Amino acid sequence: YFVTGGAGFIGSNYVEYLFKQVNQLSNVTIYDNFTYAANPKNYLEFASDPRLTVIRGDICDANELENAMAGHDYVVHFAAESHVDRSIDNASDFVKTNILGTFNVLEASRKLGIKTMIHVSTDEVYGSLPEGSADETYPLVPNSPYAASKAASDLLVRSYFVTHGLDARITRCCNNYGKHQFPEKVIPVFINKLISGENLAIYGDGENVREWIHVSDHAHGIHTVLEKGIPGEIYNIGTGSYLSNNDLASKILSVMGMNESMKSYVTDRQGHDFRYSLDSRKIESLGFEIGVSFKLGLEETIKWYLYNPSWWGGD
Ligand code: NAD
Repeated sequence: YFVTGGAGFIGSNYVEYLFKQVNQLSNVTIYDNFTYAANPKNYLEFASDPRLTVIRGDICDANELENAMAGHDYVVHFAAESHVDRSIDNASDFVKTNILGTFNVLEASRKLGIKTMIHVSTDEVYGSLPEGSADETYPLVPNSPYAASKAASDLLVRSYFVTHGLDARITRCCNNYGKHQFPEKVIPVFINKLISGENLAIYGDGENVREWIHVSDHAHGIHTVLEKGIPGEIYNIGTGSYLSNNDLASKILSVMGMNESMKSYVTDRQGHDFRYSLDSRKIESLGFEIGVSFKLGLEETIKWYLYNPSWWGGD
């Protein structure tokens, strides 16, 4: 398995899934250029396992990427710039990594005859849904530069299946939470603010709705698509667990034994999508089921951030 972005949040949880859940695992390579979002501690548990190789490499460097990928059967492509707010400030790295980088991953996969390439995408490519849920045929209407760069990469992936016959499959998942998430995304930001006694800063009126999945369920969904999916197909990975940001903040406050007075409201994000919602019946037809309830997953995640305060710090 060649795992791009395997030192980041979801990629490292997928590497853990491979080591703990896959029988007769042979070799796993993490290929990551270690941006701010990566952390070597994320794969520390497996660092001395001879089946793990870690390569510090950039998906934007086509030659280096192809050399590193040679000899692998499966490519699971997580590497990306992933934070919407950063894409609003400056989208250039998003266009480079998410579009050009994915093009390089596809080219290398095609040239090397990779058996299956999984492209890890997002529900944000469907844009904001006023009502109902998006199935995999829903139009791509991305609103942020991040979402647009992911939609562009999805279309490239599709073209490599149609034109070159590359067995490429796309997963589109809802918002992830769990251990190893860099504290710039809303759940670790809220937890860390409360740990340091600060108020929560909620965008706008806090009524924006997101669908939430525990990262271990996302890893399981991706692997289900790798093992049981159909070449060229797209699979949504959702849970049906919807929360407004207000409700999310209240749940975190309640688990941490704090009250609503810790909520404050700040100017809304530009172009802030109001609501995402996935129709996930296609992946369910492969036998995929969610394993972690939001309640238990959130409690476990809060504990993880409480017990690992130095994860992203120096001490
Ligand atoms: P992350 O930002 O935590 O991790 C990204 C990883 O990619 C990091 O380890 C980083 O160092 C690496 N990377 C970045 N640029 C690279 C490059 N040029 N070459 C090699 N490695 C590079 O992101 P994440 O939240 O783990 O997201 C992983 C993937 O899942 C992304 O493709 C994202 O679009 C997708 N996704 C994320 C979510 C979510 O809620 N976080 C939901 C759906 C889909």
